[in-house]
Amino acid sequence: MKIPLLDIKAQMNPIRDEIISAVTDVIDSTQYIMGKKVKELEESIAQYCGAKNAVGVSSGTDALLIALMALDIGKDDIVITTPYSFFATAGVIARLGAKPVFVDIDPVSYNIDPLKLERWFKAHPPDILNKVKAIIPVHLYGQCADMKPIMEIANDYNIPVIEDAAQAIGAEYVLNSEIKRAGSMGLIGCFSFFPSKNLGGIGDGGMIVTSDNELAEKLKILRNHGAEPKYYHKIIGGNFRLDAIQAAVLLVKLKYLDNWHEARRKNADRYNEMFNNAKIPNLKTPIAIYKGAAKHYHIYNQYVIKAPQRNDLRAFLDKNDIAAEVYYPVPFHLQECFSYLGYKKGDFPFSEGAADDTLALPVYPEITEDMQKYVVDKIKEFYAKT
Ligand SMILES: *Cc1c(COP(=O)(O)O)cnc(C)c1O
Repeated sequence: MKIPLLDIKAQMNPIRDEIISAVTDVIDSTQYIMGKKVKELEESIAQYCGAKNAVGVSSGTDALLIALMALDIGKDDIVITTPYSFFATAGVIARLGAKPVFVDIDPVSYNIDPLKLERWFKAHPPDILNKVKAIIPVHLYGQCADMKPIMEIANDYNIPVIEDAAQAIGAEYVLNSEIKRAGSMGLIGCFSFFPSKNLGGIGDGGMIVTSDNELAEKLKILRNHGAEPKYYHKIIGGNFRLDAIQAAVLLVKLKYLDNWHEARRKNADRYNEMFNNAKIPNLKTPIAIYKGAAKHYHIYNQYVIKAPQRNDLRAFLDKNDIAAEVYYPVPFHLQECFSYLGYKKGDFPFSEGAADDTLALPVYPEITEDMQKYVVDKIKEFYAKT
């Protein structure tokens, strides 16, 4: 048996004709940049996420980048985020000349720890706090960060929150007894349509949501070189536009998204049960933190276990045709490009631990029970031998 980490073909097959027809319509329309399909997708995503506005952009990375640009973040500013995420989260901060400051994760959810965030604010003097221009929590693996305390801290210090919801479109969190979707809790939410995300295009794409109308206008202007009206520039933006062809494909796929989320959740539950029965010492399955509370909703973009001897296990699975991936092997503070920030090994022990111990297993919607059983059996076999 050969088990990939993600099977895009299996997802595409049942909707292939619909997708090709949508793509053909775009080709025949000759409207390839922005246009009707992009507008339609923006309206659909705004509604899906529970935000007033959505702005289609060229990627999740660019979504984060223009979000920061819209808040005029640059030199001498500080942006606080997690050390444990995809590179883009921190990369965009540094690209604008601002300083990324990291706060360690909670070791169970892998998301930024609100207690440590609060401790950071309490430990710094006003002249440093005045430089903090945004907080970027990441909803890693498809589970919302603990937004209630994060928003309380942000409100106390009057700092805007940009949610990196690239892995979490449709994830839910109960904020002050209201069910909120990822991206709609902070001032701005950023999404990616990279093909491996739960809602993936046939190329790059991204989206920004915000319920602040004025900010939405600024984001739209920044997306198109800062031009308003055309050829007149009060601000400097760039070409961050979403292609019509991606919008058309994503509009088709959006109809199936909730079913795919449900299938991933069912697969995650099935793994949990299989691992429970396998009783492998020290292997830990992921915990949907808010499972007890009604309506918190994890979309399992990744199903990530904590596994001793992770690297050997991964090599063993690879030999047995099972793809597993490490998200992420090096936390930001230990990346060479961020050495100028002055962090050292040991500064964020939970992020470092996660980078050493975690392994993402295939959890895509179309994986079968037999395939999952094979994965768990092989993992059991590995630990029986060692
Ligand atoms: C995928 C991802 C991004 C970047 O999205 P792209 O569309 O690949 O640019 C940013 N942050 C996180 C957490 C991601 O997973």
